[in-house]
Amino acid sequence: MRIEHRAFRGWILSIVAAGVLCAWSTVFAQTVGVSWSNFQEERWKRDEAAMKAAIEKAGGKYISADAQGSNEKQAADIDNLITKGAKVLVVLAWDADAVLPAVKRARAEGIPVIAYDRLIQDKDVFYLTFDNIEVGRMQAQGVFKVKAAGNYVFIKGAPTDPNADFLHKGQLEVLNPAIKAGKIKVVGEQYTEGWAPENAQKNMEQILTKNANKVDAVVASNDGTAGGVVAALRAQNLVGIPVSGQDGDIAALNRVALGEQTVSVFKDARKLGEAAGSVAVQLAKGKKPKDVAGTVTWAEGTKKIPMISMFLKPVPVTKDNLDYVITAGWATKEQVCKGVAAAKAPKACK
Ligand code: BGC
Repeated sequence: MRIEHRAFRGWILSIVAAGVLCAWSTVFAQTVGVSWSNFQEERWKRDEAAMKAAIEKAGGKYISADAQGSNEKQAADIDNLITKGAKVLVVLAWDADAVLPAVKRARAEGIPVIAYDRLIQDKDVFYLTFDNIEVGRMQAQGVFKVKAAGNYVFIKGAPTDPNADFLHKGQLEVLNPAIKAGKIKVVGEQYTEGWAPENAQKNMEQILTKNANKVDAVVASNDGTAGGVVAALRAQNLVGIPVSGQDGDIAALNRVALGEQTVSVFKDARKLGEAAGSVAVQLAKGKKPKDVAGTVTWAEGTKKIPMISMFLKPVPVTKDNLDYVITAGWATKEQVCKGVAAAKAPKACK
C-alpha cells in the first residue's frame, strides 16, 4: 500500500512537472513565424531545415506557412502566424510589393520582420540575403570566360522578385563593356514568371526560333531556369553552349559535370537558414537590429531606403571546382557525377 502510494505520488509529480514545462515553453519560448513563398526550388527545404534547427537550438519555437505562390495566401499566412503567437516573422516574399501591407500590419504590432533572401522595402525590416548583385556578376563571368563574343540571351528571374533585377544588374556590370564594344549582341531578354522552369523553356524556345538558333550563350538566373533553357537547347541539338545558373541544385551540379551547364553559383542555403534562425531569436528577445553582429546599412533597393542588412557570400561552381560542394557536404560525388563518361570527367568525378 505504502509503495503504491509513493508510486502514485511520483506519477502525479511528473505530470505536474511536464505541465509546468509545457506552460513555460508556450509563454516564454520565442515563437518564430516563417512565411514561405513556395517550395518550387529544392534549396528552400534546406533553408527550412537549417532555420528550424537554429531556432530550436536557441530555445525558440518554429511555426510556418507555405503561401504556395499566392499573394492572398501569403498575406493571410502572415496574419495567422501573428495570431498563433509569433514574436518575430521571417518572410520569403512571393511578391515584394504585394506582401508590404501584411508586413506593415506586423510592424504596427511591434513584431520584428526579417526579409529572407528577397528584399521587402521598409525601413524597419531586417534584410538577410546573399549578395545578389555579386551572384549576377559571377553568372556573367562564368559564361564570359568561355564565350567572350557572340549572341547572348538573358533569362531573368520573376518580375515580382527584386533579386531578378539585382542579378541582372551584376550580369550587366560584367558584360556591358563587351556589349558596348559590339562584341556581344543581346538577341533575347525575358523575365521568367514565377521562376518556373517551364516558362524559361518556353521563352528560350521563342528566342531560338526568332534568331534561327543563332545563340552562343545564355545567362540564366537560377538553376531551375537553366534547366528549362537546357531542355530548349536539347530540342535543337545545341546543348553545350555556355549556360549559367545558381543554387547548387543537384540536377544543375550534374549538368555542370556533364558539360551541359557552365556555372552554378552556390549559395549555401543551410548557412542562410541558420543565420535567420539565430537573428530571429535575438530580435524576439528584444535585441535592436543594428546591434546584431555582422550587419551593415544598405540602401540599394529601387526606393533607396536605408535598411539594416546582412549579406552572405556566394561561390561560383564550375567543372574545375565541383569538389567544393562535395566537400561542403551539400551533394555527394555520386549525385554530382551521375552518368559522366570517364574520358570527359572533370577532376571531382575522377
Ligand atoms: C533566390 C534564388 C531562387 C529563386 C527562385 C531567388 O529569390 O535568391 O536562390 O532560385 O528566388 O526561388
